[in-house]
Amino acid sequence: GTAQIGVTGLAVMGRNLARNFARHGYTVAVHNRSFAKTGSLVAEHGSDGEFIPSETMADFVASLERPRKVVVMVKAGGPTDAVIDELIPLLEEGDIVVDAGNAHFPDTIRREAALKEHGLHFVGTGVSGGEEGALNGPSIMPGGTPESYESLGPILEDISAKVDGVPCCTYVGSDGAGHFVKMVHNGIEYADMQLIAEAYDLLRQGLGATAAEIGEIFAQWNTGDLESFLIEITADVLQHVDAETGKAFVDIVLDQAEQKGTGRWTVQNGLDVGVPITGIAEATFARSLSGSVPQRAAGRAALPAHAQEWEVKDRDAFVEDVRLALYASKVVAYSQGFDQIAAAAVEYDWAIDRGAMARIWRGGCIIRARFLDRITEAYERDGDLPLLLADPYFTDAVASGLPAWRRIVAGAAQNGVPAPAFSSSLAYYDGVRAERLPAALVQAQRDFFGAHTYKRVDREGTFHTEWSGDRTEAEA
Ligand code: NDP
Repeated sequence: GTAQIGVTGLAVMGRNLARNFARHGYTVAVHNRSFAKTGSLVAEHGSDGEFIPSETMADFVASLERPRKVVVMVKAGGPTDAVIDELIPLLEEGDIVVDAGNAHFPDTIRREAALKEHGLHFVGTGVSGGEEGALNGPSIMPGGTPESYESLGPILEDISAKVDGVPCCTYVGSDGAGHFVKMVHNGIEYADMQLIAEAYDLLRQGLGATAAEIGEIFAQWNTGDLESFLIEITADVLQHVDAETGKAFVDIVLDQAEQKGTGRWTVQNGLDVGVPITGIAEATFARSLSGSVPQRAAGRAALPAHAQEWEVKDRDAFVEDVRLALYASKVVAYSQGFDQIAAAAVEYDWAIDRGAMARIWRGGCIIRARFLDRITEAYERDGDLPLLLADPYFTDAVASGLPAWRRIVAGAAQNGVPAPAFSSSLAYYDGVRAERLPAALVQAQRDFFGAHTYKRVDREGTFHTEWSGDRTEAEA
């Protein structure tokens, strides 16, 4: 065979990735379960570069030069396993199978182990940026063996997004690390979106501003620290007018947010590794609440509303307060996500460079932002940083916004505006900086009803008090 890379699964994502490879000068073997998609790709985009279309998987595999590199871009779950099973008998030792779909990382760990038995490399890779990114340069997060990255990495780096000439692609870590990091990326995306939505709601309810006016505020914010793809598209969306009704577009959209599941996976894993990713969790639950139709109907009918309008005296000062509160909450959400990556790296035995993850998220993906440079710099200062918030840059950034953050969260509570991600981020901030937490009382309660023991602040050892007896203390 003569193709340097192959793509099987030519729906929107696979088709665009194949075109991206071709545009970068690679000869691309292309295949899809049903040939129609393969045919139309070559018919419509043959001018992008060299494609070798095949009707059968056997021909597809035969058209690849060795060691073969096969990118699988099909529906995640069962279809991915079906395609892998079809590929295995056709491949030879040293060939590389790349799963670029949205796999759940435990599946990737399982598949990597299975393919290793056949002498094959399996690279689960996160790809972010949707169809647009796949075509013009996504952020790419490959796992698998370092050995497979030697030959595959340069090709992926070639087609990835570039920021200041630096590719948004790097080796993440073994087996499921790439898909894991993509999952956390999506979780952080949930948190970022929810925080932006809360900022919008606060401005709307606090100022009584129109969607278009708030869109202008976001456009303004996009020229400063908050500059990011998500802020930019928010400004755009808020200024968009519905053609049919002439109303602000956001006002004609049903207020029930859906999800495809990566946020839920991230939260579930946060519980597994014991990391409080409260920003991501609140964002995921906020989507659940929005979709809780019967509960919302019952709540609207039964629960008293806040009686008065929020009276904001100084509009400009309020806007600046919301901006500072948004930035501080965002730093917390990212800090928590990077904590989760660190904890998972220990749990699953991955060597993940967190600074490099922030670097490859600067372009191509949904959370792309200049802000990520700050995170890379923080981990360059200290690769083992236990808390991103404690990096001097972020400490200053958050501390200077702290009074504003407190005013906004207090104002939201007093005026009945739900701001779960803003307020839980502030609670996390106050929790993680506290000298002493009421966890001491929780330990005491646990010892009282369950003899779960406790440690003392003043000497080593584990203790239990005879709560139902004479309340003497014994070393456990
Ligand atoms: P879909 O997830 O809609 O999957 C459709 C593709 O899967 C088609 O090529 C289809 O072939 C193939 N397929 C489905 N079942 C089977 C099967 N049993 N055997 C063989 N092939 C099968 O395509 P997308 O392009 O939207 O996404 C591809 C992957 O990329 C998914 O894992 C998705 O989660 C992920 N992803 C998607 C993003 C997006 O923005 N859409 C962003 C990032 C990742 P056929 O034409 O024959 O039906």
